[in-house]
Amino acid sequence: MTVHVVPPLVRENASPESCPALVLNADYRPLSYYPLSLWSWQDTLKAVFLDRVNIVSEYDTVVRSPTSEFRLPSVVSLKTYVQPSRHPAFTRFNVFLRDKFSCQYCGDRDELTFDHVVPRSKGGLTSWENVVAACSCCNLAKGDKMPAVAKMFPMQKPFAPTVNDLHRNGRLFPPNYLHNSWMDYLYWDTELET
Ligand SMILES: [Zn+2]
Repeated sequence: MTVHVVPPLVRENASPESCPALVLNADYRPLSYYPLSLWSWQDTLKAVFLDRVNIVSEYDTVVRSPTSEFRLPSVVSLKTYVQPSRHPAFTRFNVFLRDKFSCQYCGDRDELTFDHVVPRSKGGLTSWENVVAACSCCNLAKGDKMPAVAKMFPMQKPFAPTVNDLHRNGRLFPPNYLHNSWMDYLYWDTELET
């Protein structure tokens, strides 16, 4: 399996709308990874004016009001520590991330949807333990059947991942847009290449 790591895009002097700020907790770790804690420039400036965050790094992009101008923050840190959640939210993105964006029946990465291992019509729940990533072909083939009847079993038994599980997989699938100033805070625990 080849994993292409997308190089970070540099968009200096970009429009304010494409300048989200990475939000760090008071310990300088991202407030959340999945999804990555990002605020719009409006929310970020509001938090700056309310004195809730420190500005750690800035874009070159400037926004102007009639009386003043501000460089948009690219990284801010909360002044008050927030206890991070230990359990990732059960979201579509996080299920895909747990399953490494591949169909749990055939490994395909195209046209991914979700499959209830025990079908809903048979009482299967929409939960970490019963939902897997599946391509639309496999989803169609399995349909409303139990795994034993369809003779289709997921490659790994679905489970509720920890933040660390997702973080490990997340390194393989970085977000499309990563500003240079974010890198010090995002991948600090990645092994250094020699
Ligand atoms: Zn498939």
